[in-house]
Amino acid sequence: MTEHTKTDGLPGLPEAGAVPQVLEKARPRNERMAGNKIECNACPVLCQITEGKSGACDRYANVDGVLVRVDPVILLRRSAGRIGDEVVAFEALPATDEPSDAVFVTGVGSSTTYPDYKPAPFIVASQADGVDMVTVVTEGIFSYCSFKVKIDTDRWLGPEQANVRCKGEVVGHVSTAEYGSQMLSLGGVHHLTGGSKKEGRVTVEMMQALGNKQPVDLTIEGGAQIVVQAGRAPIVNGVEEERMRVGCGSATIGIFAKQFYGRADEVVVVDDHITGVLTEHQAGRCLDMRPSGIRIRGRKSTPGRYFQVANPGTGWGGTDIADPLSIIEGWDPEVAWPGLRLLMVSTTGEHSQWLVLDDALVPRPAPMPEAVAAIVSRIGENCEPSLATVLFLGGAGGSLRAGVTENPVLLTRSIKQAMVNVTCGGAPAYVWPGGGITVMVDVARMPDNSFGTVPTPALVAPIEFSMRLDDYRALGGHMEHVRPLAQVLAEGAWHHDGAPTARRWLPPSAANPWPLGQAPLLG
Ligand code: SF4
Repeated sequence: MTEHTKTDGLPGLPEAGAVPQVLEKARPRNERMAGNKIECNACPVLCQITEGKSGACDRYANVDGVLVRVDPVILLRRSAGRIGDEVVAFEALPATDEPSDAVFVTGVGSSTTYPDYKPAPFIVASQADGVDMVTVVTEGIFSYCSFKVKIDTDRWLGPEQANVRCKGEVVGHVSTAEYGSQMLSLGGVHHLTGGSKKEGRVTVEMMQALGNKQPVDLTIEGGAQIVVQAGRAPIVNGVEEERMRVGCGSATIGIFAKQFYGRADEVVVVDDHITGVLTEHQAGRCLDMRPSGIRIRGRKSTPGRYFQVANPGTGWGGTDIADPLSIIEGWDPEVAWPGLRLLMVSTTGEHSQWLVLDDALVPRPAPMPEAVAAIVSRIGENCEPSLATVLFLGGAGGSLRAGVTENPVLLTRSIKQAMVNVTCGGAPAYVWPGGGITVMVDVARMPDNSFGTVPTPALVAPIEFSMRLDDYRALGGHMEHVRPLAQVLAEGAWHHDGAPTARRWLPPSAANPWPLGQAPLLG
C-alpha cells in the first residue's frame, strides 16, 4: 500500500492551479546569440537584431539593447488646434489633462499581441458622453486577408476569373463587373502562403502598397495593364480614366430620351453590356417615336436593348470598336427615310457622332447640332469621376481576440450583439455576417501608412475594439491591464519589449464618425 505524505510541493514547480509566470520576453532560442543582439518576439520570424539595427520588417529595432517599435502610435484628437502632426516621446510629457472623450488611440504603430496570449499593448479607459469606455488597441498580423478593388471604368480590363499579376507573379484575379466598375480581388492567403516564396513576397508587398495608398502596377492576363491607387483615377493601358459611365446603353436612352425627342430621329448608345436603340426602346415607344428601320448587330434582349454588339475592349462604350457604324447591319428601306438624323454616342459621352441618311439610306457624317451636342455633353457631366477604391478585408481570428479577452468567442458574440465597435486606424469597419470577425474597411479612411508586413508573409493592420467598461468586464477582458488615457499618454504601452516610444497626433478623418460611442457596422 502506498503511503501518501503531505509535503510543501516539489521544488521548482508551480502550485496546482497557479498561473504560470509570463515572461515579458522569451529566453532566446539560440543561447549562443551574440551579446549585442536581441530577439524580437513580435512575430513568428523571431529576428535576432543587432544593436542599432532593425528587424526584417523594419518595424522593430534594437535601440541601446532595448527592442522598440520604431513608428509612433497614431492618436486621433478631435479638439481643434494643437494638431501639428508632431511626434512626441511618451516620456517627454507628464500625464495630461486632455479631455478623454476627445482622444482616440489607434492601432497604427501600437505593436502586437504575438505570440497571442498577451493582452493587447494598449487597453485604454476613457469616457464618451460621460460613459466609462475602454478601447483595446493592437496591430493584427493577418494571413487571411485581401483587398477588394473597385475600378470605375468603362473599359474592358480582362475576362472574369483572369489572373492579375504584379511583377510577373499572380497576386489575385478579376472578379465580377459591377455598374460602371470592374472589381478585382487581390492578395489573400492562397497567394500569400499557397504558392512560391516569391509569389508570397510580391503579394504582400503589393498589398502593403495598396493599403498605404500607393500606386500599384498590375497586368491582367488577356487584358489590360493598369495602375491602381486608392482614391485616384485608375490608369488603363497608360491612359488615365476620367469618367464612370452614366449607366448602360439602355439606361442612358431612358435618362435622356425626352431630351433627344424632336432633336434626333434615332439614337444608338453604344455599350459593351447593353446597347440601346431609342425608337425601339420602351422610352421611345412611350414618346410615340416613329420607328427608324435600323438593324443592329448583336443579340436582341428586349425591345431596343442589344447584348454582344461587339467584343469588349477600350474603344466606344467599353467595346473594341473604333467605327460605330460597324454595329449597324443596315436599314429597312420600307421604314427608314432619306434625311433621317442619327446620333451614335457612348455611355460616357466621350465618343459621339452625328449622321444623316443620304438618298441611298447610307449614314453620312454631318456637323452635330448644338442642342444635340449639349445633350452629349450632359451625358458626360452626369458621369461621376473615375476612382479606384481599395477595401481591406481581413479575418480577425482567435489569436488577435485573445489580446482582448481570455475567452475569445465572447468578443465575437459581443460584436454581433452590437456592444463592441470595431475600427481600423479609427475608420469604421464593416463586420460581415456569419462566424468570426471578418471586417472590411476603406483604406482611404485610415491614416496614411497604416499597413506593415512581416516576412511570414502576412500583412500587419491596425484594429481597435471599443466598448463600455462594464461590457468589457463582462466579456472576460484583461481588466488588470486597463489603464486611464492620461497614463497611456504619459507612459505608452503596458509592456516594454517592442513597445513604441513615441506618439503622433492626427486629426480624425472628416469622413469618419468618432470611433467611441458608436455601434459597429454590422452586416
Ligand atoms: S519580422 Fe519584424 S516583427 Fe517579425 S520578428 Fe522580425 S522584427 Fe520582429
